[in-house]
Amino acid sequence: MTPLAKKLVYWYRKNRISYPWRMTRDPYKIWLSEILLQQTRIPVVLKFYEKILNAFPDLISLSKAKDAEFLSLWSGLGYYRRAQSMLHCAREIVQNGAGVFPSDLHELLALPGIGKYTAGAIRNVCYEYLTPAIDGNIRRVLARLAMSHEKLESVFLEVGKGAESGDFFQSLMELGEQICLPNPRCVSCPVQNFCKSRKEHRELEFPVKKSKQKSEKFHWYLLLLERKGAHFYAQNSAREFLKHSWIFPDVLSQKNLSPSELCKNFAQSWGIKVRGLKELRTLSHAVTYRKIHAHVLAAESFHVNGVRGKWLKPEDLKNYPTSSITRKSLQVQDR
Ligand code: SF4
Repeated sequence: MTPLAKKLVYWYRKNRISYPWRMTRDPYKIWLSEILLQQTRIPVVLKFYEKILNAFPDLISLSKAKDAEFLSLWSGLGYYRRAQSMLHCAREIVQNGAGVFPSDLHELLALPGIGKYTAGAIRNVCYEYLTPAIDGNIRRVLARLAMSHEKLESVFLEVGKGAESGDFFQSLMELGEQICLPNPRCVSCPVQNFCKSRKEHRELEFPVKKSKQKSEKFHWYLLLLERKGAHFYAQNSAREFLKHSWIFPDVLSQKNLSPSELCKNFAQSWGIKVRGLKELRTLSHAVTYRKIHAHVLAAESFHVNGVRGKWLKPEDLKNYPTSSITRKSLQVQDR
């Protein structure tokens, strides 16, 4: 083992935080945790990790899940395409494979929704095959250690040579989460003596910051229709995001629309006739790179006959995939 890896792994074993996915080498659980960690912050991951494992404790049970069942558990996490890919992946492994995740890199990469990072994580942690797996945190650590922006996969392999790959990989992650933060705490770093950028006092120059994708701004009009304590929900498969979610009939526009333009839009896009629109509240929301002003609307009168959708009471929502904006909109109405 290289002296750097030895120091790092030793530090990790003494200081690691005992997340539940660190107590297992089960590829299904590691896969789930990695997908969730790519998605959101650790406190949220902990909640969903437990919830999903309670409902679907293994690959076989997930492969048998109905889409709506899994997507409703996923509600609030966003990136529903990832949830769909997980279902496809579980079904493919169970139907075409031996029912367990393969250890071969190419076979892993051929599975739906599994990219280089997730495949590497599974191989390192579950099968002890040292494999480059580089997310944002690990990129930052390696770039600073090597004082380079390039060939970080080779740096990963060189530094980790001879180490237990699971602990080595997780030690890099842990260092990136606890010490080698965007503003690094180098004085507390177990590998500061090996760090080239630290020696040159250039740690803040690595890695190069990518220019941020310009965020687009949208107005998202959500029509909150109520009848006998239930609200009207619909799915919009033409929408680029949340297409599998049950949400309020909506109109997305890059410009602010007047009430009469909105009435026209709801009639054209949904076949819903509304009169007397009033805005209950505007909420700020972000979906991928879009910045969204969500306008929650109510109507004095409406006509939805013949429109494909469902009237659902708040307690029915748990059985349907929906979005956090839906829950926020309902809270607006409660005020
Ligand atoms: Fe990161 Fe500083 Fe440690 Fe280098 S010394 S790895 S920059 S925390």
